[in-house]
Amino acid sequence: MSIIAGISTPIGNGAISIVRMSGEGALEVALRFFTCKKLRNQEIMPNYMYLGTFSGSNFKDKCLFVYFKAPKTYTGEDLVEFHLHGGVTVTQKVLHTLLENGAKMSGNGEFTRRAFLNGKISLDEAEGVLGLINAESETEISASFSVMQGNVSKRIRPIADKLLSVISMLEAWFDYPEEMEDDINTDFFPTIRDIQSNLEKLLATANQGRMVRNGVSVALVGKPNVGKSSILNAFLREERAIVTDIPGTTRDTIAESVIYKGVRINLLDTAGIRKSNDIVEQKGIERSINAVKKADIILYILDGALGEEPTLDLVKEGARGKIYYVNNKIDKGNSNPNYINVSALTKEGIDELLELIIKEVGNKRMYGEMLTIDRHIDAVANALKSINNVLNNMGVSYDCMLVDLKDALQSLLEIDGGTASEKIIDDIFSRFCVGK
Ligand code: GDP
Repeated sequence: MSIIAGISTPIGNGAISIVRMSGEGALEVALRFFTCKKLRNQEIMPNYMYLGTFSGSNFKDKCLFVYFKAPKTYTGEDLVEFHLHGGVTVTQKVLHTLLENGAKMSGNGEFTRRAFLNGKISLDEAEGVLGLINAESETEISASFSVMQGNVSKRIRPIADKLLSVISMLEAWFDYPEEMEDDINTDFFPTIRDIQSNLEKLLATANQGRMVRNGVSVALVGKPNVGKSSILNAFLREERAIVTDIPGTTRDTIAESVIYKGVRINLLDTAGIRKSNDIVEQKGIERSINAVKKADIILYILDGALGEEPTLDLVKEGARGKIYYVNNKIDKGNSNPNYINVSALTKEGIDELLELIIKEVGNKRMYGEMLTIDRHIDAVANALKSINNVLNNMGVSYDCMLVDLKDALQSLLEIDGGTASEKIIDDIFSRFCVGK
């Protein structure tokens, strides 16, 4: 593979900027421009930092230089890094010098893509790296770190191995039936059931895994004027949604995110659910119903000052998440032991409500066991579908069974990249920045 070069730090003035180069011959290109007293009569040692000078055609910078020797490097190839003074111009000039001397500009995520192609990391681990770079909350960091450490492949591999053993056995049975001693029916159905149960267990973590990674989505619903916007603002601790005394002002759903104790909470403030002749408001009401359907948690806000009781059956409206009844305005009314009592005005009970919400993501120690990335969840769901087909077709057609078993294996191996299409791989690496 050719030599690639890229700037690995964000473009802008800073203390340090790093230019990286990977590929066979990268060291030779680098040493045309990097000089250091220590290196005069000595061969460069890998993994050591050298302080020296980068001399371009009409500029110089004092820098640190490090050489990582293949194959024990991030990309699996020879890799070099210049740690420069973090100026935009000097960094770009160093990059251009390398590009003019044999390196080619790296594409998005090309260093990590090479790590994948050279077998240094699996595709799911690369997604962990991406997740870690983009993480906005502590739970996202923990979940991404776990994916990056290979926890997903670790769980998938034994299942894929079992599948492979069944497929090999069936194929052998097809090819050499006379040499197979056991009856086809008896031997491997327990294994397939076992695979099914393992996939089901994995898939059962997906809901919580999605919350760990993307945040807990919370819909605030209730009649107009009960204090939905005020509670949202209390969560955000600032005035963002419009709060007024006129019923029906929150016509649109508002999406805001707040990080509470490391957990991202995605809030959907919704138009009050009630009958309305106003077209715009009706649209908002439709969106409330959609928000109710999508939310992991629904806060049904009641006006405690009026002693309001719930009138709407949210399950009938399509709610799938947990429903909490929240009695607001307790500064003006009575608290009710059947509900969660809060006051958006005095903030009483607001932290307790946030605690209830973040409890939904579960314990930190469990993050490593969850499926958190949609692509992995879809792949496991597809594999399970194929396995269910196998069990439904039991004894009907062994040909069909074999096809479904292979489909299941294909789905599972997509996760670590073994059978992932170029399109999937392109899509993943296009989301990285250039120097990563
Ligand atoms: P929404 O229509 O459900 O979003 O309700 P708003 O948040 O716009 O609030 C409606 C009215 O109730 C506003 O005048 C708020 O100031 C008031 N309000 C909201 N929460 C409280 C509360 O906890 N205590 C009191 N006393 N008033 C509140």
